[in-house]
Amino acid sequence: MIETNSTCRMLFNGGLTINPDGRILLCCASTQKELAHISDIDNLNEFYNSSLLNEIREIMKSGSLPEDWCFSCIKWRENGERAAIDDWVKREIKWNQDDVEYHIINFLEFAPSNMCNQNCAMCGSVYSSKWIEWDNDALEDGLTFRFKEKHQYVTNFHNEVWSMNDKDLQKIYDVLPNVKRINLKGGEPFADKRNYDLIRYCMKLKNPPIISSTTNFSSIPNEIMDLICDYPKFRMGVSIDGTDKVYEWVRGASYKQTIDNCHTYMKRSGNERLVATATPTIYTLYSLDDYMLEMKSLGFKRMQFMSCTSPKYVSVEAEENIENYNEKYKRFLASYNEVDIINPENLYKRKYDVSIKKSHVRDWIEFMNKKRGFDIRDHVLELSKF
Ligand code: SF4
Repeated sequence: MIETNSTCRMLFNGGLTINPDGRILLCCASTQKELAHISDIDNLNEFYNSSLLNEIREIMKSGSLPEDWCFSCIKWRENGERAAIDDWVKREIKWNQDDVEYHIINFLEFAPSNMCNQNCAMCGSVYSSKWIEWDNDALEDGLTFRFKEKHQYVTNFHNEVWSMNDKDLQKIYDVLPNVKRINLKGGEPFADKRNYDLIRYCMKLKNPPIISSTTNFSSIPNEIMDLICDYPKFRMGVSIDGTDKVYEWVRGASYKQTIDNCHTYMKRSGNERLVATATPTIYTLYSLDDYMLEMKSLGFKRMQFMSCTSPKYVSVEAEENIENYNEKYKRFLASYNEVDIINPENLYKRKYDVSIKKSHVRDWIEFMNKKRGFDIRDHVLELSKF
């Protein structure tokens, strides 16, 4: 079969995304609707070949992306931005020329729970168990703009730890022998000990899959450090978006401890195997050049920049003069060498979003200041304008 502009590899030779609450999604960018719940299906490969998935394949084969499911990629393309279908999906999933009648899952992205040991400023209780109490506090403080019924996938309030039950987790184990790539997500992937068992299980497979995961690395038990260093195909990202107090305000963990853990991993596995993964927000926007210089001096050889557009009130797109920063970072990157940058455009292709209310940005800063015990505006003076 010939690959076209609309045949997403996720559906052809790819796989599925399973959220910690068991909802099965087409991919991590397809967040408006779920395909099914893992408890309602018997077998993931069978489901991957169900009439629902085949209908989506047929739409793609006929030359368009299904709007209901692939709205994110459609919008990214319309805006001239790099869409998942053209970007990381192609990097991670190979195209198969053969016309297969039965599709085998090669790629799985999943999290067995939303257990986390951090409460980052741009996260919420859907993805971090540590946010449950704080989201309650935010509600009590009247920050109702944070909770929108329609936006249930990112920040909407969730008041319990989500955890996949053993029966559903077994359905994942059932397909692992054929899987070539796993994206282990969270919560914090290493906060849930069941992921240790899963890594051990994969290690013993005839063809261990590539496992990629992004950790906060703020606290790593020796047991898991040994496992990830010994696993032959582990691709590790560490979430660091700023330095020192800015990092500590955004992520709520000790900067020194995180860097020490990075160095322990680098010493054992090599500097190339650890990618510093930054999600620029309005809090880190103003010092991304200093941040990149520091990452380089700490020995990172690879960096990745993500785009955070939800919740909007933490986004860099709240900055009216974003064009100035786009220019600044474009110039900076021209002379920044020795470090590979994945998705550099997330540093300089951002647009001001007039719909972001300054009062929401300010209220969220005030709330997080209270929680962290210090004022981020003492370290990022530019935030005083909100
Ligand atoms: S949203 Fe994009 S990446 Fe996801 S399945 Fe659709 S086209 Fe593929």
